[in-house]
Amino acid sequence: MRLFQHISARTVEEACTLRAKYKGKAVLNAGGTDLLPKLKGEYLFGYPEMVVDIKTIPNLDYTREDNRVLKVGALRKLSDIAKDPLLKGCLGDAARSVASPQIRNAATIGGNLCQDVRCWYYRYPRHIGGPIRCLRKGSGPCLAVTGDNRYHAILGGKRCFAVCPSDCAVALAALDAQIVIEGPEGRRNLPVADFYTSLGNALKPDELVTEVQIPKDLEGARQNYLKFTLRKPIDFAIASVASVITLNKGVCTKARIVIGAVAPAPFQATEAQEFLKGQSIDEHIATKAAEIALTGARPLSQNAFKVEIAKTLVKRAIYS
Ligand SMILES: Cc1cc2nc3c(=O)[nH]c(=O)nc-3n(C[C@H](O)[C@H](O)[C@H](O)COP(=O)(O)OP(=O)(O)OC[C@H]3O[C@@H](n4cnc5c(N)ncnc54)[C@H](O)[C@@H]3O)c2cc1C
Ligand code: SF4
Repeated sequence: MRLFQHISARTVEEACTLRAKYKGKAVLNAGGTDLLPKLKGEYLFGYPEMVVDIKTIPNLDYTREDNRVLKVGALRKLSDIAKDPLLKGCLGDAARSVASPQIRNAATIGGNLCQDVRCWYYRYPRHIGGPIRCLRKGSGPCLAVTGDNRYHAILGGKRCFAVCPSDCAVALAALDAQIVIEGPEGRRNLPVADFYTSLGNALKPDELVTEVQIPKDLEGARQNYLKFTLRKPIDFAIASVASVITLNKGVCTKARIVIGAVAPAPFQATEAQEFLKGQSIDEHIATKAAEIALTGARPLSQNAFKVEIAKTLVKRAIYS
């Protein structure tokens, strides 16, 4: 680890100002479970001059209901989210599926949404010869296209094929949640799926995530979060699915199906959602919906296996 300056921010404004002042050379630290390994591994070119601790900003660790919207502060720990009765359902299950108890006790929801991708070319550390150049780092091609792409995107990859690694993002997208972003120009809300861009996220260099908002309209809907990993426990998803299905006398009136770890952002299976509307859900309908959900999949040379895993998860999430 190299030397850097460290400041404990007291307000959101202070954190934004520092980020602006250091022009991309200041990074935010919440739980530190993603940032610190990144600083240790030195897998990015350039090193931050300033680490701004945001854990010291008061009043960003909460869950509360406000006008039929559930609001979760960016500093809420995943372990608290996992056991919060207000967040029971796919978000609680997604948070519980992340890493280990120790990591969930430190990791925050804001950090989980903003964590960096896990592509092994991207995370090639200095002590074994890194960092390596690639498209996401600003120069060179995407090495996964011709290289080892077992765990990369099968849907929606354009330039960078690394998948969004966040479990919570998948559940939040299925819950139709919004991410609240604050910066010098004020406050703005973004739907979770729009937060992720082909090479990162929609945050400007002087902004931070302060809250997540979940509408309560889907209260009473049947929720599921399923995750397939190679290692149990403590592993990122090969694929995951969050489903939120509203039924009236056994007939689906509304469905939100989001697939994780298959695309650069949580992938909303809109055609499968449409297909489910008006159907009495049985095994046959769930199988058909899963086929529809993965119709657009375009696997790379080594990851066609993810298509079948994702289909099975979608089917199980709908019919279980
Ligand atoms: C062994 C291991 C296993 C893991 N398994 C999983 C898994 O199965 N599923 C999963 O989803 N994740 C997994 N993770 C990742 C883990 O969930 C993240 O490291 C964690 O959620 C990040 O939260 P944090 O508060 O520690 O973020 P930090 O490490 O503090 O920050 C992460 C990044 O987000 C930025 N950031 C943090 N907070 C904000 C904010 N409020 N606004 C703007 N930017 C912000 C930081 O600048 C940094 O770039 C795993 C991590 C490890 C080490
Ligand atoms: S998938 Fe993305 S992060 Fe990985 S090598 Fe390609 S451009 Fe870089």
